[in-house]
Amino acid sequence: MTAPSSKRSARADRSGNVQEVLNFLRATGPSSQATISRATGLSRATVNHIVQALRDQGAVQYEWKNKREALVCLASTKESIVTVTVTESAVHAILFDFSVQERTDLLSTHLPEYHDAAPTPSMALDLIHRLASIARQRGAPLVGAAIAIMGPIDRTTGAIAPWAWQRLPHWKQVEIQKYFVKNLRIPVIVDNDANLAALAEWSWGAGRGCSDFLNITCAQGIGGGFVINGAIYHGGTGLAGEIGHMVIEDAGDLCFCGSRGCLTSLATERAILNALPHQTVPKRSLEEVIHSAQHGDAACQRVLSETGLRLGKALATVVRVMGPRVIAIGGVLGHAGDIVMGGLRASSEIINLKAVGAGTEFRVAEIADNATELGALAAIFKEIDMGINSLSPWMLRPADPGVAEPSRTVA
Ligand SMILES: [Zn+2]
Repeated sequence: MTAPSSKRSARADRSGNVQEVLNFLRATGPSSQATISRATGLSRATVNHIVQALRDQGAVQYEWKNKREALVCLASTKESIVTVTVTESAVHAILFDFSVQERTDLLSTHLPEYHDAAPTPSMALDLIHRLASIARQRGAPLVGAAIAIMGPIDRTTGAIAPWAWQRLPHWKQVEIQKYFVKNLRIPVIVDNDANLAALAEWSWGAGRGCSDFLNITCAQGIGGGFVINGAIYHGGTGLAGEIGHMVIEDAGDLCFCGSRGCLTSLATERAILNALPHQTVPKRSLEEVIHSAQHGDAACQRVLSETGLRLGKALATVVRVMGPRVIAIGGVLGHAGDIVMGGLRASSEIINLKAVGAGTEFRVAEIADNATELGALAAIFKEIDMGINSLSPWMLRPADPGVAEPSRTVA
């Protein structure tokens, strides 16, 4: 999914060799020119030529190892990128300005004109235009935008899948990527929030270097995203990874998707809070449940462990079908760490997997916050042949601390 622009055209002209070097650095991290040459089969002279050209463009730089060996690493140094996360209740836009190394956040709920308004495409566009204006004034214009949608994107239509329309009613039947490309005239990537969170974990977190990776994000919803050979796996319809709507209990609660007993209705914040009805001090959020569990609350520990068991049941089936090498558990539930992971690993379905020799490793996700937003950044980097090998502290929080964190919802 690409857009026309002079910069894009220039980049599209890059040879396959350049792409190969960039992809290698993206998957492997900082590497010497000799390593790049060996891995790609390109001659040392060719690699040197490509690296010098990419350095001139500000796309790579040298990182010195022991003051002797220069490693080539991805480094975006001159331009700006915007990411937008659209949830049921808010639009969160972030300007990543690599020229001054500063992040600027805009949250629709902080703006009087949008305070209580349901997200619309024009609202998202307005926020992007505001950030683009800041970027232009700094002399680091936007070179790409990535839109993360809290809902599945049907790749046959480019719009949100019909069963999620009720959650984002103003986006119904909008061909999202076309809409933003038409109005922005820069490359635009559109993807599901859970897919993008998976790409962030693959790029800079628990899935780094893994050729077959599945990331599960659990908070108000449950989303899954596969990254296979360095790319998000969408499946033919775009709905691959929708683990939240795997049916775990035939007679379970009705889910908004129309099925019964989906993992989403059994292992999300609401399900966890509903399982704790008789607390002296009622818990209001999953964070509170995790905090109490970590401080010895037996009931909270139990419900989180049982959530792990349910995840184990679902993931065992996924492992049998897709065989990912690594599965990471992220989102708010990831903060529960061993309490949830203990339940997951203790589930009979996961134990049974070992009997058939499945070598899947389960890890806690490493990117604690903003995984979707950072994954959006990774996705547009890839689209426009840019990248970074590690996250810098300025990318992780807004320069203005008054801007609150966005919604943590995952479809
Ligand atoms: Zn469902």
